[in-house]
Amino acid sequence: MTRASDLISSLPTDLWLAGKQTPASTGARFGVLDPATGQKLTSVADATPTDGLRALDHAASAHAMWAATPARERSEILRRAFDLLHSRAEDFALLITLEMGKSLAESRGEVKYGAEFLRWFSEEAVRISGRYSPAPAGTGRILVTKNPVGPVLAITPWNFPLAMGTRKIAPALAAGCTVLVKPAEDTPLTMLLLGQVFADAGLPGGVLSILPTSDAGSLSRPLIADPRLRKVTFTGSTGVGKLLVAEAADRMLRTSMELGGNAPLIVFDDADIDAAVEGTMLAKMRNTGEACTAANRIYVANPVREQFTMKLTARIEALTVGSGTHADTDIGPLINDRQRRTVSALVDDAASKGARIRTGGRVLDGPGFFYSPTVLDEVPHTANLLREEIFGPVAAIVGFDSEETAIAAANDTRFGLASYIFTENLDRAMRVSAALDSGMVGINRGIISDAAAPFGGVKESGFGREGGTEGIEEYLDTKYIALQ
Ligand code: NAD
Repeated sequence: MTRASDLISSLPTDLWLAGKQTPASTGARFGVLDPATGQKLTSVADATPTDGLRALDHAASAHAMWAATPARERSEILRRAFDLLHSRAEDFALLITLEMGKSLAESRGEVKYGAEFLRWFSEEAVRISGRYSPAPAGTGRILVTKNPVGPVLAITPWNFPLAMGTRKIAPALAAGCTVLVKPAEDTPLTMLLLGQVFADAGLPGGVLSILPTSDAGSLSRPLIADPRLRKVTFTGSTGVGKLLVAEAADRMLRTSMELGGNAPLIVFDDADIDAAVEGTMLAKMRNTGEACTAANRIYVANPVREQFTMKLTARIEALTVGSGTHADTDIGPLINDRQRRTVSALVDDAASKGARIRTGGRVLDGPGFFYSPTVLDEVPHTANLLREEIFGPVAAIVGFDSEETAIAAANDTRFGLASYIFTENLDRAMRVSAALDSGMVGINRGIISDAAAPFGGVKESGFGREGGTEGIEEYLDTKYIALQ
């Protein structure tokens, strides 16, 4: 047996319910594919709405116990989970590569990043505090306490199968909430293995349930309608986010929404061009371009545009495309054929409207869902890929003449998650950061994610923050107690 087949055959593939592996109530299962081959890796239990409600029974009855568990104990369980995750880091990395496709080096990066939320929130769990003050009128005293919101439903996407889960689970558990996780149907295996880590770390049964399903809407709707559920936290597309907010509105359910992006990356003529190229490689090509923070629109000052484009094209042409399990692979497959067709259609649309293809621009022969790393220059403003998320290894370059036009173009989108700027001028960096309508700005760097920083967007990229000292607030209610 290979290491991959060994790992796959040892995985938990049933639902995590009440701290135990449990088949779906119907016994149904669905297949999980390796996007590098199109072949089935294994199958997992297919949770039904009844299974969802059973998980909510457990979450609701465990809630008081977990909320009353001393913060130090909650913290230590999270810290043990962090250590256990690290002790199995190679298994997690291989599993992420097998079900999602990214290179092993990138999967190792995700394991490190994803684990960091467990450590960060183990540290935040013991720092939940309130406030006491005398009422200014001298009529009493004001006491403010922070309390766990209650059972949480967390719905996660496939592009970071581990980190998008730990970014929600860790702060929720730290705050004293019980959690139901619905992982993406393309990548449920990593989350199910994380369930094992939490069981081994001593998390009491019922506090965390993991519910893969082939029918997300049918599972989540009755949960959202149930008064025992107190919060929905979602990472995924803006379309599904809007649907969930509408469903949640009926009960005024608290929601956090980490939605789609359309990040501008601006290279000014005073930038260090080599550093800008390296930053763009990270902001664009990391995760095969399948990141909500991926640079979707690359605006380059016209005097340096050709120099930048040539250097970027040379770097992108040198990338090795292949199965993420091969040691020399830089760019793995896209998640599935649907995603590849979307990317291909966006590139064809841009080319038909006049964009120049500097490299790539084609679907690669199978098996697997590969697309060639691509650079497009002179992308016209009418191209669909300037308005929609590309979610693939395609760099779209547009020239600009002035700082004002660059800012206006960057802000001309319904999204507002991440932005990037490259300049050696500090005044300009601060001025443009302030003018950009996005939740996060990277200055002279292509990766901005950090467990210690608040991640999130504005406009149709959603609301709420994950990570940082802000992240735990999403799972706490504020109570004011008036003392005589
Ligand atoms: P998606 O919206 O299709 O799916 C996300 C999750 O929602 C999956 O678990 C899916 O099963 C579930 N889902 C789908 N329909 C549902 C329904 N009707 N009711 C309840 N749940 C439903 O998104 P995706 O394709 O998995 O992920 C890519 C998207 O996620 C991109 O738009 C990307 O920008 C976004 N994303 C955002 C962030 C962020 O932090 N802002 C991070 C990663 C990805």
